Amino acid sequence: MKFNYQTREHAIEKLQDRTLDLLIIGGGITGAGVALQAAASGLETGLIEMQDFAEGTSSRSTKLVHGGIRYLKNFDVEVVADTVGERAVVQQIAPHVPKPDPMLMPIYDEEGSTFSMFRLKVAMNLYDSLAGINSNSEFANTMLTKEEVLEHQPNLKQEGLLGGGQYLDFNNSDIRLVVENIKRANQDGALIANRVKAVDYTFDENGKVNGVVAEDLLNGKKFEINARYVINTTGPWSDKTRNLNKPEHPIEMMRPTKGVHLVIDRSKLEVSQPIYFDSGYNDGRMIFVIPREKKTYFGTTDTDYHGDFEHPTVTQADVD
Ligand SMILES: Cc1cc2nc3c(=O)[nH]c(=O)nc-3n(C[C@H](O)[C@H](O)[C@H](O)COP(=O)(O)OP(=O)(O)OC[C@H]3O[C@@H](n4cnc5c(N)ncnc54)[C@H](O)[C@@H]3O)c2cc1C
Repeated sequence: MKFNYQTREHAIEKLQDRTLDLLIIGGGITGAGVALQAAASGLETGLIEMQDFAEGTSSRSTKLVHGGIRYLKNFDVEVVADTVGERAVVQQIAPHVPKPDPMLMPIYDEEGSTFSMFRLKVAMNLYDSLAGINSNSEFANTMLTKEEVLEHQPNLKQEGLLGGGQYLDFNNSDIRLVVENIKRANQDGALIANRVKAVDYTFDENGKVNGVVAEDLLNGKKFEINARYVINTTGPWSDKTRNLNKPEHPIEMMRPTKGVHLVIDRSKLEVSQPIYFDSGYNDGRMIFVIPREKKTYFGTTDTDYHGDFEHPTVTQADVD
């Protein structure tokens, strides 16, 4: 059956009449990716998501399929090899989702800056070679003089600007990527339902988890789902999910943080392309400024967060 609102009812029914090989809790990109892989491998797979698909972190990202060039500052080659390798897989199987979008990186003479001009060139060359971009490609990296950087982006601060570089990055529709994974997993037989929340675990006689108690949040009905394995892909909710059956004595392994983007009318901050630079505060962060349709968004912050995960809000301190 094609994935639509009726498959939800069908999935909820079927989730109760069998023992799954794998039940996935959480329908962000991690859960959707696991569902795709598991269903394609022939495992009897189920996935429940308490909100809508991608309604957690996976719709609130910077929307880049980011190569992670900053890791090359410390020659963390393996991380970047991984990210650009995975990106190539996504491009191959879903070329309609990630789109090439070259990134401008201005370099300033400032204390604690991530890259000097020399380090940027070394990093960009290494990055291109890991990503398989050869030097004749239209997407090969280029170094830019101060004047060229300002030609690309006239409203950048000129003081302390040394020059910069441009390298290939990709923009992405994060929600669509999740939904594409979900649809394909459904096509391969996975039973998938949104607005269904895992509220407790069930255990076998040896105390091993063998399923969950789920609640259909559209009608409040609770039901059991049996599974040989249950996987927790609930991102920032991972601790809450791990501790569903022991709220009194939770084992906490996460340190939740909040990343805020500010979104403003493009007329107020006109940028010609994505830009990536140090925050200027020597605080270890890099800032993205991304044009998208009639908006420009920029950020992000990186602060500890213990508020409501479903409806995180922006404080004045974040804006400042
Ligand atoms: C500010 C910011 C910018 C980012 N930018 C980028 C970027 O540009 N590119 C990039 O690749 N990555 C980016 N990331 C990282 C990326 O967004 C995350 O790694 C990714 O979205 C995490 O996906 P996830 O599936 O693990 O978690 P989530 O998307 O949060 O999914 C977890 C899901 O579990 C569900 N859930 C929770 N509890 C239950 C329960 N009891 N029962 C059922 N369902 C439950 C939630 O509703 C949620 O939908 C960014 C992250 C942040 C914070």
